[in-house]
Amino acid sequence: MYDLVIQGARVMTDMATALPALQDIALQDGRIAALAPQISAGLARQVLAADGLTALPGAVNAHAHLAMSLFRGVAEDLPIERWFNQVIWPLETNLTEEDVYWGALLGCLESLRSGVTTVADHYFFADAVAAAVERSGIRALLAPTLFSGPQEAADLARARQFVAQRDGSAGGRIRSWLGPHAPYTCTPEYLRAVAAAARELNVGIHIHLSETAEQVRACRTQYGLSPVALAAQCGLFDVPTIAAHAAHTDAADRQLLAQHGTAVAVTPQTEMKLAIGVAPVIDYQAAGITVALGSDGAASNNHYDLTAAARLIALLEKHRTASALTMPLAEALQLPYQAGAAAVGLAGQIGIVAVGAAADIALYDFNGPQHAPLSDVRAALLYSAQPTDVRHVLVGGRIVLRDGLPTLFDQAQVLREAAVRSSRLQQPGSGRMAAYPGN
Ligand SMILES: [Zn+2]
Repeated sequence: MYDLVIQGARVMTDMATALPALQDIALQDGRIAALAPQISAGLARQVLAADGLTALPGAVNAHAHLAMSLFRGVAEDLPIERWFNQVIWPLETNLTEEDVYWGALLGCLESLRSGVTTVADHYFFADAVAAAVERSGIRALLAPTLFSGPQEAADLARARQFVAQRDGSAGGRIRSWLGPHAPYTCTPEYLRAVAAAARELNVGIHIHLSETAEQVRACRTQYGLSPVALAAQCGLFDVPTIAAHAAHTDAADRQLLAQHGTAVAVTPQTEMKLAIGVAPVIDYQAAGITVALGSDGAASNNHYDLTAAARLIALLEKHRTASALTMPLAEALQLPYQAGAAAVGLAGQIGIVAVGAAADIALYDFNGPQHAPLSDVRAALLYSAQPTDVRHVLVGGRIVLRDGLPTLFDQAQVLREAAVRSSRLQQPGSGRMAAYPGN
C-alpha cells in the first residue's frame, strides 16, 4: 500500500523533453516508490488529483537568508558598503529570536509558494530558523552565521551545539553546516578553527566569498591571497563547501574550487542590484565547478523565487556571450534542480523526479494565458512562470502547500506578524552586527 498517489500529471523526469508524458507517481515513506502511466487509486491511502498539472522536482535554493524577508524593501538603490553599514547591520542588531522565527517562516512560505522545497540558509538565531523550517515542512541546510570578535569562541561553541542537536532533525529534513560569514569579517585564525570544527563534526561550510572586485583586492593586500585561495589555505574546502557569489575569481581560484568540489551559489538579482558583478556561469561550468543558484536575502533580491534566478542567468549568459545558443533550456534548468542538489550534498536524492528520490515535488499549473498555447513546459517554467503557477507542493511525501496555501501553518498570521515586526525593526539599532571594510 502506497502512502499517496499523484494522478494525471505530466511528469518532468528530465529536462530534455518539451512535453513530458502523463504519469502517476506513487509515494512511500517520503520517497518516490513508482512512476507509471497508471497506478490504481486502490493501491494508496491518499490520492492527489493532478489532471492538467505538471510535476517538477522541488527547486533547491543554495544561498538564502530567509529571515531577511523582514527587511524587504528597506535598503534600495545603495552600494554594498552603505547597504551593510548604514542600513542592514544596524537594523539587524534589533532582531530578536522571535523576529527571526517569523521572518524565516515568511521566507519558507514564499519559498514553498515558488516551488522551492530545499533552502540552504545562513543566519543568526539558527534555532529560530530551524523552528520555522520544522513548522513549515520545508527541507533545509542551516548554517549559523559566525563573525570574528570577542564573542567568536562562544559563537563557535554554540554553533557546534546547534549542529549536534539539529543535524538530521525534523525526520531528516534539517541538516546543519557551519557558516563563517566571509574572509572580510572572519580572521584566518577563526576560519581555521571553524574548518577544524567542521571536519570534526563531519559537516560542510557555507560562506560568502569574492563578492566584489574590491574585496579581492583588499584580501590580496592584507593576506597576499585571493579570498578563494585564503579559504582553501584555511582548510575550508577540505569539507563540502558552498561559496556564495564568488563572482570575482581568476584561473587559479577556479582550479581550487573545481579541484575541491566546492560549489558556487550565484545570486544574480542581488549581484545585479548591488552592481557587484555576476559570476560567468558557463566559464565556471567549463572549469568543472558546480554552479547552483541562490536567492540571497530579501533585503537585496527581493524574493525567494529560484525560477526567476535561473531566468536571469540564462538571459545574462546569452547577453554576455552574444549568443542565443548559450544556456539552452535544459542547461538553465539544471541550475535550480540537479546542481542545487549537488551543492547541498544531496545529488540524486532531491532536485529530480525519479524512483528512489525524495518525494519533493512541485505541481505547476501551466494553463494560464501567459503559457498558452503550451508547446514546451521548460520554456513556460523558465521564461513565463510566476510563483502563482505553483498549485501544490510536497516535501518528503507530505503535502505542505495545497491550492497555493500552506497546510501546516496560517499564512495570514505570518503576514500579520511580519507587518507588526517590520516597523519596530526599521528603527536604527544601537550598534552594528559587523563593519563592512572601507567605511
Ligand atoms: Zn548572502
